[in-house]
Amino acid sequence: MEPEDAHSVLDAFQGTVDDVLIRHRSILDVLTKLHEAQARLARAAATAVTVCGCISVHADRQRIPPDADLASAHLYVRSHVDGNLCDRCRETVETEMGEVLFYQGALANLLGVRLADVLDQELDRLRMLGVFHLS
Ligand SMILES: [Zn+2]
Repeated sequence: MEPEDAHSVLDAFQGTVDDVLIRHRSILDVLTKLHEAQARLARAAATAVTVCGCISVHADRQRIPPDADLASAHLYVRSHVDGNLCDRCRETVETEMGEVLFYQGALANLLGVRLADVLDQELDRLRMLGVFHLS
């Protein structure tokens, strides 16, 4: 997808969010609904581990060799996730992720922020900082 296409999709998404958001249009509703959607997304990921079992978590301390340089550090850092989401869990995660995006778009609209611009700025920042981004 070309960047211009991504901008079009984001602009269309933001416009549609603005069109359909009627009931919870107050910024207070949007902020709390966004937080609620993020919690449901985390719950969907946790349920994939604890109820379904299609993915599992095996976590321990990250071990980066002291002589590893910053550029190769990512080779040693683990996600602690084993396995892959099954179709059902993927559908649930994607639905909840969509809700997060919906309320993120709503918040952007209420604050007069264009998501395509935010994405461009963040991409530029990531490319400029590279491995020094460290998050
Ligand atoms: Zn599953």
